[in-house]
Amino acid sequence: MLHPKEEKTVVIIKPDGVKRGLVGEIISRIEKRGLKIIALEMIQATKDQIDEHYPQDEKWIRRLGEKTLKNYQDYGFDPQKELGSQDPLEIGKTVRGWLIDFMTSGPVVKMVVKGIHAIAMVRKLAGPTMPTEADMGTIRGDFSIDDATAANRDKRAVHNILHVSETPEEADHEIIFWFAPEDICDYKRAEEDIMF
Ligand code: ADP
Repeated sequence: MLHPKEEKTVVIIKPDGVKRGLVGEIISRIEKRGLKIIALEMIQATKDQIDEHYPQDEKWIRRLGEKTLKNYQDYGFDPQKELGSQDPLEIGKTVRGWLIDFMTSGPVVKMVVKGIHAIAMVRKLAGPTMPTEADMGTIRGDFSIDDATAANRDKRAVHNILHVSETPEEADHEIIFWFAPEDICDYKRAEEDIMF
């Protein structure tokens, strides 16, 4: 098994994060935690790229719908009335379409982050998908207030500032998809001998 400090994950600052000038703040939080940025680039993604970036399997799409249904339940909203459906797969497909529009609505910043349990640590820094559920101290909890009930009423994706890989498989897929081997620049951080 890989040394925990060799773990890599992908972070994509979404168009809302870029347009709000949060790139520096996000990078700073990642670096201060002791994680290392080993690739970094701003791009305008295409619809095809985003379509390939997010999983296309039914399981993932259904889970997207289930998250929406939970958010509706938490706030006492009726999915049938709001979305015309209670079917997680159908809702997931609609949401995925909005997500592609959102992720291509402006530039994004993509990066590879490396460090101890990078996938889980960066997810902790980001906070949960719905900013209304995110604790203060997380990026989503400190800088955003949005969720499915609000976003779906306006037929758009949840604006939650950044994307972070969820599993090792997702991280591997995203690294290969978004970066060429020569884009990744490893180096030693000055604190490495002191922090871990
Ligand atoms: P995460 O980005 O936290 O891993 P998901 O993979 O579940 O979350 O969802 C991908 C993205 O889709 C979210 O970050 C969010 O921008 C958007 N999203 C999720 N659910 C909804 C929804 N019900 N309505 C609009 N956008 C959504």
